[in-house]
Amino acid sequence: MADQANPFDSLQEQLDAAAEYVDARDDVLERLKHPERVLETTLSVELDDGSIELFDAYRSQFNGDRGPYKGGIRYHPGVTRDEVKALSGWMAYKCAIVDIPYGGGKGGIEVDPANYSESELERLTRAFAAELRPLIGEDRDIPAPDVNTGQREMNWIKDTYETLEHTTAPGVITGKALDSGGSEGRVEATGRSTMLTARETFAWLGRDLSEATVAVQGYGNAGSIAARLIDEQGGTIVAVSDSSGGIYDPEGLDAEAVADTKAETGSVVDHAGEEISNDELLTLDVDLLIPAALENAIDEALAHDVEADVITEAANGPITPAADEVLADKEVYVVPDILANAGGVVVSYFEWVQNRQRFSWTEERVNDELEAVITDAFDDLVEAHETNGTPTLRTAAYAVAIERVVDAYTQAGNWP
Ligand code: GLU
Repeated sequence: MADQANPFDSLQEQLDAAAEYVDARDDVLERLKHPERVLETTLSVELDDGSIELFDAYRSQFNGDRGPYKGGIRYHPGVTRDEVKALSGWMAYKCAIVDIPYGGGKGGIEVDPANYSESELERLTRAFAAELRPLIGEDRDIPAPDVNTGQREMNWIKDTYETLEHTTAPGVITGKALDSGGSEGRVEATGRSTMLTARETFAWLGRDLSEATVAVQGYGNAGSIAARLIDEQGGTIVAVSDSSGGIYDPEGLDAEAVADTKAETGSVVDHAGEEISNDELLTLDVDLLIPAALENAIDEALAHDVEADVITEAANGPITPAADEVLADKEVYVVPDILANAGGVVVSYFEWVQNRQRFSWTEERVNDELEAVITDAFDDLVEAHETNGTPTLRTAAYAVAIERVVDAYTQAGNWP
């Protein structure tokens, strides 16, 4: 059972671990461990039966030194202020390691969307968008999808913003549907960077992803697409899971067929295969493990039982700092979330560029440019790891990212 590490404490521990490899003043480093501001609001939403329900919602703007705040909005019953603060910090350093001109932000509403009708979710989303309006903008703060949100919610937020502002500003939000100003390749992008970073890591280790056995925890957008793309590369997906449980087939699962089953029945467990629990999946003896669900999936106790050689974090924050140490001692290579799942925000950046230019790219161009960004960032990470002898790839990634944010902060100077 995963522990309940506070994600904001985890973020700060990760930053502290990397700080010793960064040439910067302690007070500057301290500044870059806290968000610049957090909106906390209570949304009142009329339900279909005419009653009013209240929802806690947050938007954290962590750091804007490298560009507009950028990051998704999640709908989940476990959303808290500290979780959103942590996620916004991870976004700031994610945008820095892939070197796109954004700061970091994140939002969330404490809600289980499965319990509400589409019209209730639309009113909830528009209520949040109206609260966000003074804070967001194409050059200010640009939200995007995250857990349990997608094109539908992004389209509503764009429409609310544009209606209230009496303008068209598609770049105010990314992850939109194509006809609402979305980009080719955006839906696949998080899974694609997970596959690309796994491929690069195996090559760096002198191995080949096409010969790897793979387990995927979480079969939402990121997990299911990473599984399909790795399947296409020749890797063998032996196990997948979602919140209802998992399935295992040592001969290999057809990743796309499993996604079809989940779309039909609501869960991967309805697909053929031996049933296993999430903890069993996380401790399978596989070459590659992909946690693609929520924070804290692998805690210290579970880490002792992990048998994978490589882990690529498609989720944000799935490994606690204590678990990270255990995995490092066992020489498990962990490709950190801020690089492994950065494809989403990189293609969000491409979407925003296309929106600003009112010019659309082909899917091929999007995928080619994404691959170039991710492989360059991977090379930066490996160089930092090998030059500094950092204990983990995560620490190397943060060392590179923190240095970029420190430089922007220092060049701008403190205000006021
Ligand atoms: N929610 C995604 C993430 O955690 C994407 C953010 C974005 O596209 O701005 O990286």
